[in-house]
Amino acid sequence: MPRISLSGPELYLRLLRHVRPYWRQFGLALVGIVIVAATEPLLPALFKPMLDGNFVAQDPAGILWIPLAMIGVIVLRGAADYAGTVGMSWVSGKVVLDLRELMFQRLLTLPTTYFDHHPSGILISKVTFDVTQLTNAATDVLTVIVRDTLAILGLLGWMFYLDWKLSLVTFAVVPGIIVIVVLINRRLRTLARSVQQRYGDMTHILQEATEGHRIIKIFGGQSYEFNRFHKAANWVRRYQLKSKAAGSLNTPLVHMVVACGLAVIVYVASKRAIAGELTVGEFVSFVTAMGLLFSPIKKLTAINEKLQKGLAAAESVFALTDELPEVDQGKHAVETVRGHIEFRNVQVTYPGAPRPALDGIDLVVEPGETIALVGPSGSGKTTLANLLPRFYALESGEIRIDGENVENMTLESLRAAMAFVSQEVILFHDTVAANIAYGAQGSVAKEAIREAAAAAHVLEFAERLQHGLDTVIGEKGTRLSGGLRQRLAIARALLKDAPLLILDEATSALDTESERAVQDALEKLRRNRTTLIIAHRLSTIENADRIVVLKDGRIVEMGDHSSLLEAGGVYADLYRTQFSLERQEAAQGASA
Ligand code: ADP
Ligand code: MG
Repeated sequence: MPRISLSGPELYLRLLRHVRPYWRQFGLALVGIVIVAATEPLLPALFKPMLDGNFVAQDPAGILWIPLAMIGVIVLRGAADYAGTVGMSWVSGKVVLDLRELMFQRLLTLPTTYFDHHPSGILISKVTFDVTQLTNAATDVLTVIVRDTLAILGLLGWMFYLDWKLSLVTFAVVPGIIVIVVLINRRLRTLARSVQQRYGDMTHILQEATEGHRIIKIFGGQSYEFNRFHKAANWVRRYQLKSKAAGSLNTPLVHMVVACGLAVIVYVASKRAIAGELTVGEFVSFVTAMGLLFSPIKKLTAINEKLQKGLAAAESVFALTDELPEVDQGKHAVETVRGHIEFRNVQVTYPGAPRPALDGIDLVVEPGETIALVGPSGSGKTTLANLLPRFYALESGEIRIDGENVENMTLESLRAAMAFVSQEVILFHDTVAANIAYGAQGSVAKEAIREAAAAAHVLEFAERLQHGLDTVIGEKGTRLSGGLRQRLAIARALLKDAPLLILDEATSALDTESERAVQDALEKLRRNRTTLIIAHRLSTIENADRIVVLKDGRIVEMGDHSSLLEAGGVYADLYRTQFSLERQEAAQGASA
């Protein structure tokens, strides 16, 4: 995983690149914000003519225009503030959307190994939680920086205009503020990272608990899961609190420094007023302006907390978007595939595994041939099947389809040439028909879907549903039986009608009755295409053209059913064990 560690400013610049497409709207919002800031010193500025003119000199000139000016300033500020806030929210919403889409796009193209090593809960939390934290930094921080810096500059400008010597005292507090902010910086960012990680952990546990609810109930895992959840959720709370505590320390500390400065200023100002160097209006105006300084200074120092959270989130989000997608260097977009497959000395070792999952596999499959892969579990059957669509990379050796190395083909065209029924059936929260036509929704005739459904014996089930094939099957199809799920997956493969067919234990969950029926459909299906069947029940592969027996990642036997039985090796053993088991079951079934 390319974990790049960017410094704060680099990260921030990178974040701003995502704001750039919206620079017009951003600019408009900024204008609103600038107006708010620019009008900030106007109120204290109005105090001077009001006090010195209306009250001290008792000059009637300002009686009307000063109150009207006050209303004007407030109305202008209100409108500008509204436009600025809404505009910034619009921009940050767009940035969130863009980044979410970027992350999702990346998720769709990441290699299988990435998912083997990253719990999905943590990925989910990046896309849902982290990205929202990030825009805090992108827009809110900018808003505050622009608005409050300008406000501070404006107020200071007015103060300098009134009395520059007095104003210089105000500057004495600046270094103190900087020291405090820098000190608290690092802690805030570390804490924000921890909050995100714990949030990811919590999502992960939540996901396991919702998906595994049956196992949890049967095996009484409630208290175990609850404890796990409590720990994770509590860590989220603790880190959030720590973060809040560190962030909240900022403001009072800064205030203390500011208050010291303020005390000195009031002292000096009072002395100058007594000496007649400062009018009442100037003094009130000066102190009001100074009072108004508080709020922007406070916001500017509190912004740090948001900024650090945002930067930690940016790190997490960019770590995902920077992941490399699947290697797809093949240039050749194959159009027609005859179905000749060749494995040449193929070796695969999973990361961290002590021994190869596949070791020196040599196998040639003729077009139209049906090859059955059998062997004890863990012998590498699924791994072998996963190599054809290039879900995993080879350690050495090569795989050729019609004489061409699969690495020279584009992933899209390679995968388009095969239908795959995986060991674990994946269904989507959609209609039966959409699940069968998955990936080709809308471009397939209803009739074709119907035919596939009929051949895989899904139709008889679907017709009993309220809306037939258009019934939504519920999230992940959990309301369907295992056998039915497999039949749906088979219908999906049937409809794809690809020259290569890979079935990984595709009939393991079927009962004998529907297995026979589906078997029939599969029989028809594999007729003019190259088929790789992995079967748990050996009875289902007896009439394969060739049976390849795998053990510990190596091919140990090869031949047809009868010759392998005769040879009396691994296959014969497997077969006899299963056969006697099945006979027992049949006998029990008959006596029951
Ligand atoms: P089979 O399908 O014959 O039961 P597999 O191909 O699934 O066997 O597994 C072969 C070996 O590779 C096993 O030892 C298994 O633990 C290991 N293995 C399978 N999938 C992965 C994976 N994604 N990551 C690491 N090891 C794996
Ligand atoms: Mg398997």
